[in-house]
Amino acid sequence: FLEGKRALVTGSTSGIGLAIARALAKEGASVVLNGFGDEAEIAQLCEELGATHSGADLTEVAQIEEMMEQAGGIDILVNNAGMQHVAPVEEFPVAKWDTIIALNLTAAFHTTRLAVPGMKEKGWGRIINTASAHSKVASPFKSAYNSAKHGLDGFTKTIALELAADGITANCISPGYVWTPLVENQIPDTMKARGMSREEVINDVLLVKQATKKFVQPEEIAALTVFLCRDEAQNVNGANWSVDGGWTAE
Ligand code: NAD
Repeated sequence: FLEGKRALVTGSTSGIGLAIARALAKEGASVVLNGFGDEAEIAQLCEELGATHSGADLTEVAQIEEMMEQAGGIDILVNNAGMQHVAPVEEFPVAKWDTIIALNLTAAFHTTRLAVPGMKEKGWGRIINTASAHSKVASPFKSAYNSAKHGLDGFTKTIALELAADGITANCISPGYVWTPLVENQIPDTMKARGMSREEVINDVLLVKQATKKFVQPEEIAALTVFLCRDEAQNVNGANWSVDGGWTAE
């Protein structure tokens, strides 16, 4: 049902973004991938999905502008690229703070401001931002990430109000822990910050609040993204939809 629609999914060479890109392509959307990775693997992905790829570093405004210009009119914008760093606030590397805010929050502002004029012209658009349970609640040692994700929630609500009359919706999807490289890579730092073993981090930190005691699968986030693109979802606007096994219900 997405034939004729063009979708940009940022951070889609891995994890959640890749699952979203696959699901949108399956529904017929023409997909622009973005993210880093092995060139041959990305070329193979492009072939498989009939997609194009931009290697833009989304912490750089000029590269975002170039990507948006090359991508052309985007109907479905999925702001998904993100990164994490785990450290106590007084030791938090200043450069990491800046990069996390730039990638997890500011990049969504830039892609949005550049995509919106085209969406307004067509009178249709979908902006779907991968936030996090950490856009609603906090955990210690993730000051930059939690700040960026709370900011992304506020940004999404703001544009939802601004763009509603133009047939454009904006929503956040907020996963709990999804087993992707982003989660796997934070285990060693969390072990250090909390003085725990790997198993303790998985069971007593990652899954402790996820009442289902299961990691969320990337495909579950992708399925919700597809739903938000449907006409039946035209009144889902400014929402921040949890997919976290019950974490934020407590
Ligand atoms: P991932 O590490 O598997 O993928 C991240 C993607 O972003 C990759 O494609 C990577 O190349 C790209 N990327 C990284 N830096 C970039 C940059 N500077 N410019 C452009 N692209 C860049 O991560 P994931 O777990 O799939 O996370 C995707 C999103 O979901 C993130 O916003 C993350 O915060 C959010 N999220 C993840 C979880 C989880 O448990 N994995 C939970 C909640 C929210």
